[in-house]
Amino acid sequence: MTGVVVIGAGLSGLAAACALAKRGVPVRLVAEGLGGMALSQGTVDLWGHDPAPVARPLERIAAAPQGHPYRAIGAHNVRSGVELLLDLLGEGFLEGDIETNTLLPTALGALRPTALYPPSMAAGAPSDGARWALVGFDRVRDFYPRLAAGNLNRTQLPGGGFVHASAHMLDLPDHPLLGGADASAMTVARVFDQPGYAQMVARAIAPLVKGHDAVGLPAVLGATGRDAWATLTRELGKPVFEVSLPPPSLPGHRLGQALTSRARELGVRVALGARVTRFTAEAGRVIAVHAAAAGAPRPYRADEFVYCPGGFESGALTMDSRHGIVERLFGLPLTGLAPVDELITADYGARQKVFEVGVRVDDEMRPVDPAGEPVYANLRVAGSLLGGAIRWAEKSGEGLALGSAWAAVEAIGRSAA
Ligand SMILES: Cc1cc2nc3c(=O)[nH]c(=O)nc-3n(C[C@H](O)[C@H](O)[C@H](O)COP(=O)(O)OP(=O)(O)OC[C@H]3O[C@@H](n4cnc5c(N)ncnc54)[C@H](O)[C@@H]3O)c2cc1C
Repeated sequence: MTGVVVIGAGLSGLAAACALAKRGVPVRLVAEGLGGMALSQGTVDLWGHDPAPVARPLERIAAAPQGHPYRAIGAHNVRSGVELLLDLLGEGFLEGDIETNTLLPTALGALRPTALYPPSMAAGAPSDGARWALVGFDRVRDFYPRLAAGNLNRTQLPGGGFVHASAHMLDLPDHPLLGGADASAMTVARVFDQPGYAQMVARAIAPLVKGHDAVGLPAVLGATGRDAWATLTRELGKPVFEVSLPPPSLPGHRLGQALTSRARELGVRVALGARVTRFTAEAGRVIAVHAAAAGAPRPYRADEFVYCPGGFESGALTMDSRHGIVERLFGLPLTGLAPVDELITADYGARQKVFEVGVRVDDEMRPVDPAGEPVYANLRVAGSLLGGAIRWAEKSGEGLALGSAWAAVEAIGRSAA
């Protein structure tokens, strides 16, 4: 095999590229941008809402309805995809249980189900009667402890009972890197990486959190590592947990950075900032994709192509002024199309079916036409381009990305055998 080209550097593209590289396949990953991970919570959502909270995600996946992409992927591939991710990230990067969802607090004080999460979030799993101190930082937008505590205190836990959360604000100790009054989450996170800063913050927080069982802080405790969180936990002498902020999110950024580094270590040749604008095909096979590059478009040839471009958010799917929806690169057939007033409703809280529009695949992860025939023999699709699921409503995005990436890699292995 001369190699595989993976298009996209989101969770599905990076997972597929790493899995192929681990099997000794030469892999080239071509992506325009960094993908949605830096916008995500840094957790692994397999299936969280249905619309009520789902307790056992793999069981729910195994019972996915006809038309849902989990039907083509299968629970076994989701399990293998998650195991791949854990192996790539190494011991201690994520914890939790793939079989059972855990509820973790959001910045709004809602409880959000997820399967795996960074250790820095673990102490945020609620229990009846737990006394939490939620501490906001004056310079950090998007975390208002009074709002979060108020909502949490009103939320009954699934087994009955409530947490007791109190709200506190802290003026962060000055640091030259902090800049003005309003700092981005990334700026504050970089300051937490500076030697001695987490100790200073711990000394300032300590008087606020006496008599509490655990301390919740906005997820800005370090840009890449977990040292600041470990220091705060040690210095305060009680569990500390990070609460994810709205996008962009530091835990998601840490996950994206770790996976991109891992891909490079495994020998994946990563070309970022390269949008694939067209492709060449012959006799039902893709021969090459062509990426925009300085000077002239650059062709990438391969035996197999794994297409992981995301969905509407990344521009892989677009809607024109006449409400026509297209997949922009290959012009792949789409499932879920309907008149626009059926796809988008004025009721914001209703199911917006437009987000279910996407590509349908066979068991080999190849896009299929309306008759169920593969469009190209060597083109596989993984991640958010797959139609039939509303990822952020279901909380299924990472499970779909990892499961379909694994299924695509397995299919490539079978076709090469
Ligand atoms: C703001 C936001 C919040 C979300 N929150 C959740 C959540 O809470 N829970 C959940 O389960 N899911 C959530 N999702 C869904 C999320 O999309 C998935 O979890 C998952 O991250 C998707 O990964 P992906 O690899 O399919 O695509 P993406 O992460 O979107 O990556 C797509 C990649 O393809 C590249 N690309 C696209 N077109 C081209 C091209 N022509 N040439 C080269 N490169 C190209 C992009 O630059 C990018 O690198 C959220 C999505 C968004 C946008």
